[in-house]
Amino acid sequence: MMDSELAALYQDVIIDHNKSPRNFRELEPPRREADGYNPLCGDRLTVYLRVEDGHIREVTFQGSGCAISLASASLMTEALKGKTVNEAQALFTQMHALLTDRNGAEGDVELGKLEALAGVRAYPSRVKCATLAWHTLQSALEGEHESITTE
Ligand code: ZN
Repeated sequence: MMDSELAALYQDVIIDHNKSPRNFRELEPPRREADGYNPLCGDRLTVYLRVEDGHIREVTFQGSGCAISLASASLMTEALKGKTVNEAQALFTQMHALLTDRNGAEGDVELGKLEALAGVRAYPSRVKCATLAWHTLQSALEGEHESITTE
């Protein structure tokens, strides 16, 4: 994808998901949850998960923060629903590479719309906004109730 195309896609996707975040609600128990906080920007997210038979049946989030943190969380919940826990871990690894590695993500997972978030690499100070939801997800997958911070 050309850099200019990526920039335009990035803008569109961030604006869309910030305006109408998907799966923005608390999940009824039984659930796993984790809180994430990015002190650099003040973003706070809670990610809720329902895992059954190794599959993510439901994934939702709540919180407040900048457009990038909310859009990233919204895109994440859309991408994860129905995936196995192993697939979610693979997606986490690939997204982390996409967002933090100058060379981009090499992997076999189809990123689809998530690829738009690669545009954040042009704004290094915002990378932690984009990765917050993913770190919080990781924490929710691992424990019953955890708090994480990006620092
Ligand atoms: Zn932020």
